[in-house]
Amino acid sequence: MASATTSTTLSLLKTTASTTSSSASRSSASLIRLPSTRRHLKSSPLIHSLGFSSAASGDSLLSLHVSSKVRSFKGKGSRGVVSMAKKSVGDLTAADLKGKKVFVRADLNVPLDDSQNITDDTRIRAAIPTIKHLIQNGAKVILSSHLGRPKGVTPKFSLAPLVPRLSELLGIQVVKADDCIGPEVEKLVAALPEGGVLLLENVRFYKEEEKNEPEFAKKLASLADLFVNDAFGTAHRAHASTEGVTKFLKPSVAGFLLQKELDYLVGAVSSPKRPFAAIVGGSKVSSKIGVIESLLEKCDILLLGGGMIFTFYKAQGLSVGSSLVEEDKLELATSLLAKAKAKGVSLLLPTDVIVPASAIPDGWMGLDIGPDSVKTFNEALDTTQTIIWNGPMGVFEFDKFAVGTEAIAKKLAELSGKGVTTIIGGGDSVAAVEKVGVADVMSHISTGGGASLELLEGKELPGVIALDEAVPVAV
Ligand code: ADP
Ligand code: MG
Repeated sequence: MASATTSTTLSLLKTTASTTSSSASRSSASLIRLPSTRRHLKSSPLIHSLGFSSAASGDSLLSLHVSSKVRSFKGKGSRGVVSMAKKSVGDLTAADLKGKKVFVRADLNVPLDDSQNITDDTRIRAAIPTIKHLIQNGAKVILSSHLGRPKGVTPKFSLAPLVPRLSELLGIQVVKADDCIGPEVEKLVAALPEGGVLLLENVRFYKEEEKNEPEFAKKLASLADLFVNDAFGTAHRAHASTEGVTKFLKPSVAGFLLQKELDYLVGAVSSPKRPFAAIVGGSKVSSKIGVIESLLEKCDILLLGGGMIFTFYKAQGLSVGSSLVEEDKLELATSLLAKAKAKGVSLLLPTDVIVPASAIPDGWMGLDIGPDSVKTFNEALDTTQTIIWNGPMGVFEFDKFAVGTEAIAKKLAELSGKGVTTIIGGGDSVAAVEKVGVADVMSHISTGGGASLELLEGKELPGVIALDEAVPVAV
């Protein structure tokens, strides 16, 4: 292992280059982000030497000795009890809820196919525990969500296709309103029995929703007695149904899903069982500055992958070929490396990358981490008790560049089975873990891409701040 992590001369492992065009050359949203390199994606990948020589050999950050490093973590402290600062729906009993009209904002923004079939019901399932708690305690649930990005009333973004699945999962017939405010909705609310659920129409059919207009928020709030926010996926936005309604409804509390997200993405990250590793990947360093800076304050090991690594390489004077480099972020990369060093964080960069074969004549372009890097990263992860992962290791949308990401996903799955806390945040990272089929074994898979990123950056979410504080409990 020592040799793997201290070596700066990287292996060149050739595979047979295919002469036929791969699917990678024909279609990919992600490749659109790499216009200058797209034309090269014509054949099978090679695992390519990065060509590092003396330039890197003197840099201890590229050649950290993980095993000796992690031994020193012992006794650095363990995760304390996480206390939620916000009042939770779990604090509300039958005495608080029976006969009460509860406005529940959930994130039911599920993907639908052209025939309006739900292709992934994760978000509906995630919303069920809160709704069940409410109906079991005799509340009348007024359920609100957005779906897609409608411009005004758009039938294709109606919440109607969600009713059968919601009803099935709740074990009751959910009633659907054709609007989210107004006299017709008020009539349906008045007719709602205790333990009943009324699903309001897409709240974004009104532009006032995203503008957080107080008059609109007041109309929504007038339907109910109290508020539960369980829409983690939109908690980073101050919208009428997430933030505006809290001005008119008391109490305003967190749902179980929102609470779980905060517990892991804030609680487990700020007081982790150590050693604590953060894995950060994705395409650009510019989109991950906040995440890296924030996690550097908390983690013991930082593993970097994805397209951003080339900015770090270049910052150290290494050649990066045609790979993705953000020239204006070179100084930042240097300062992040220095910060890691100053904080005693083991920062590991991949030592080998996968490139498309035909890119070689024009230089090279790294689209995945290679097997040496996977080995080194796995060895580092083996020493940890908590792992947070945000950002894929490679362009995982293509199978040939998904190997590194898959290997890391499998490692986290294995470690989850051994009691390591594993947390996955970020839309693409979650998709990657789901693609590998190991999502279920992770400690926590975040349901909100943008919201989870903001939490990892250490930001507070408007949809959370607006909720009532938890009553302090003496310990
Ligand atoms: P998340 O949604 O989990 O926060 P990001 O959106 O930051 O993750 O990053 C995901 C994207 O990063 C994917 O589309 C993936 O193709 C891209 N990516 C990963 N590695 C590379 C690379 N080496 N070069 C270019 N893009 C990459
Ligand atoms: Mg993403």
